[in-house]
Amino acid sequence: MNDVGRWGDGTRVVHTTPAVAGEPFTAGPVFASAYHLGGADTYGRAHNPTWRVLEEALGGLEGGTTVLFPSGMAAISTLLRVVLAPGDTVVVPGDGYYLTRALVAGMPVEVVEAPTAGPYPSFDGVRLVLLESPSNPGLDVCDIAALAEAAHAAGALVAVDNTTATPLGQLPLALGADVVVSSDTKAVAGHSDVLLGHVTAADPELAEEVRAARTTGGAIPGPFEAWLAHRGLGTLDLRLARQAENAAALYDALKAHPAVTGLRWPGAPEDPAHAVAARQMRRFGGVLTFVLADADAVAAFLARSELVYASTSFGGLHTSLDRRAQWGDPVPEGLVRLSAGCEDTGDLVADVLKAL
Ligand SMILES: *Cc1c(COP(=O)(O)O)cnc(C)c1O
Repeated sequence: MNDVGRWGDGTRVVHTTPAVAGEPFTAGPVFASAYHLGGADTYGRAHNPTWRVLEEALGGLEGGTTVLFPSGMAAISTLLRVVLAPGDTVVVPGDGYYLTRALVAGMPVEVVEAPTAGPYPSFDGVRLVLLESPSNPGLDVCDIAALAEAAHAAGALVAVDNTTATPLGQLPLALGADVVVSSDTKAVAGHSDVLLGHVTAADPELAEEVRAARTTGGAIPGPFEAWLAHRGLGTLDLRLARQAENAAALYDALKAHPAVTGLRWPGAPEDPAHAVAARQMRRFGGVLTFVLADADAVAAFLARSELVYASTSFGGLHTSLDRRAQWGDPVPEGLVRLSAGCEDTGDLVADVLKAL
């Protein structure tokens, strides 16, 4: 039921497992280190049926073969370990998730940083181009199809960190990328109660290499976490719809506010990223970025707000706000990433305006 053409998104995320008479709609978590041999599963580090149903669900949504990981960083680091050899060159976003840059900085590879909005360097001699669109926290967007074409012409592999967009917001493999990486800790699981991540590859052989690296490396997800994320996935369409509605209303309320500068949301027609985003994204999500005067202004905002939590994650039911400079992102002291939650739009806008 995952074909984009035939079914709507609500149907695609609800119907992710086949109907079997006498079985529950979605099977519960299977806790096993060892299995009776002779079936599909042998040992808990290699196989788990609860991973498998979620991998099939995510792979179906993204159009590739999915391998689940215990966090987004476990997914990214395993992909890099599989794809990169010592001395290879990797291009990473200079304005993307900071731990990705920290990770490659510690690897024996050449690192080239490029801003998500460009300009990009020549991809000659590059092994892997890792893109992040929309980027976290700046919400810039890059033209995935054009960059994938240029990278492929140079013989490079293209991976896209699709965390901010989710598989309902953007399909990087359909745009020409080879691999998707995602932190499902954010909107995919969506309830701020689980860490999880995945790699989806267009080439099943690459996916099997990543799976083998997971088995050997031993960084495996817990079945309970996979089950919780699968439960959350069923409402992704509903949650993203409310979050985007809230983000649009907040954008309108904030764009002329004297305390706010640098407001970004790719869904806004006046946003510099909107033209490219509208071409390649299926929906724009609930994450906005803006700048308040300084760290004190952010603290005062949070103290006055009743609904916005200070929290360094996003994509959950609760509206949350993160001042990114506190984590070392190269951004202004007062820059915040606000993740619109699923509260009532009127309540949220009123609370944010009151707090400002
Ligand atoms: C959070 C995040 C990650 C890391 O994911 P974890 O699940 O926290 O390990 C990677 N990329 C992006 C864009 C993120 O927002």
